[in-house]
Amino acid sequence: MSSIGSLAQMGLVAAVGVICPVFTSFGLTTIQKVRCRQYRPLVLAALLVGMCQAGQAQEVQPARPSIPSDGAVTLFQNVRIFDGKSSTLSGPRHVLVRGNQIERISSDPITTDRSATSTLIDGGGRTLMPGLIDMHWHTMMVRPTPAELLTADIGYLNLVAGAEAKDTLIRGFTTVRDMGGPAFGLKRAIDEGTVAGPRIFPSGAVITVTGGHGDFRQPFELPRTLGAPQSRGEQLGAAMIADSPDEVRVRVREQLMLGASQIKLTAGGGVASPHSPLDVSTFTEAELRAAVEAAENWGTYVTVHAYTPASIQRAIAAGVRCIEHGHLMDEPTARLIAEKGIWLSTQAFPDEMADVFPPGSSERAKALEVFAGTDRTFALAKKYRIKTAFGTDILFSPWLAPRQGELLAKLVRWYAPAETLVMATGTNAQLLALSGKRNPYPGKLGVVEEGALADLLLVDGDPIANIKLIEDPAKNLLVIMKDGRIYKNALRK
Ligand SMILES: [Zn+2]
Repeated sequence: MSSIGSLAQMGLVAAVGVICPVFTSFGLTTIQKVRCRQYRPLVLAALLVGMCQAGQAQEVQPARPSIPSDGAVTLFQNVRIFDGKSSTLSGPRHVLVRGNQIERISSDPITTDRSATSTLIDGGGRTLMPGLIDMHWHTMMVRPTPAELLTADIGYLNLVAGAEAKDTLIRGFTTVRDMGGPAFGLKRAIDEGTVAGPRIFPSGAVITVTGGHGDFRQPFELPRTLGAPQSRGEQLGAAMIADSPDEVRVRVREQLMLGASQIKLTAGGGVASPHSPLDVSTFTEAELRAAVEAAENWGTYVTVHAYTPASIQRAIAAGVRCIEHGHLMDEPTARLIAEKGIWLSTQAFPDEMADVFPPGSSERAKALEVFAGTDRTFALAKKYRIKTAFGTDILFSPWLAPRQGELLAKLVRWYAPAETLVMATGTNAQLLALSGKRNPYPGKLGVVEEGALADLLLVDGDPIANIKLIEDPAKNLLVIMKDGRIYKNALRK
């Protein structure tokens, strides 16, 4: 499978998109001029070397859609609040959103002016809760099948990812932490309001070793020699290969320069990779430590893909702050994770996910081995009170993506419904906050409280009493708000 390589082509487009307006001097559109303004330091540098014509970087009004949440007011009347922290709903409340923040929550009616920028929503006693957060998402890899990734035009793949981003948001997931892939361009388009989608905490390219999880090269591409062209996946920013501490440092810093809010390495073998057995540990401790050092110097953290005790323990020794998956961990490893206060970001993979891989393939066998560890992993996470975050890791599965909420609801096998909902909101947001000043969306996420960012869902019922409500967002999520802007309002007459 070399699907990552094809997928990664999108990353090049995204990366070029950041630079183009600055270095393309002729025929700038208004939008390009605006972007020139955003990158003013670069534009000024370009002007000095005559690369941007005089006058083209002048101040202009944004041509892109203005962010409608600016100054807009939404009043939710008569709602019961699930606040992302507690296990019960509040009594009847009124919630005032101004701009992109929750300004006021009161049990008394809140008066607001009835201007054109005000929206009144009669909650009718329904539940207002924080937008859901998926901590293991691959924005660019959800919907395309591997075959499409291998064959489709890059522009088409970007548009598919944009369409999926809108659907992700309309399923009630207002934030995703992207665990690898060239998502910077789509993130920018979403943040600018060009495309509807969730907030994206991007990792940029996954960093791996030769033969590790994420190295999708073919044998004929070896050996890699100094100065040789990069593999397709690297050129396009989907996965970077690094085989020494110095090389790791370069790759990490590149992702940080592109805007990564955290760094993702693969510390052990993976299911979808053609070359890495599940049992292997890939990076050396020194290599992992180099990544941690570079990320921490930049104010953020490293998370690693790791299933086995050996790969998890080595990563923790190197200063890694979060483990993705962990499905093959043992008891001493769980104890270590807990003792060190390391995050576990994991999921209950649905068995059908193995269907992505052909019958008889090693990938399929690896998938089933990992899935078999799910039950024990959650049991250990609970037993040792490990800080546990939820993410789906849906890949290449357009049929599975609509079931994102269902994958969350599956956690009631191990957790109470309220615990499950807290995990996908307030707890996930605590892990997001580990990005420190590299958090692209400063402000409180995952909670309904005064001053928090207004990512809100109005649920037609009580999701604590009936968590299955989140399995059918089209029917049960009546209002979806992100950053104070309403993306869905089924109550509007
Ligand atoms: Zn993943």
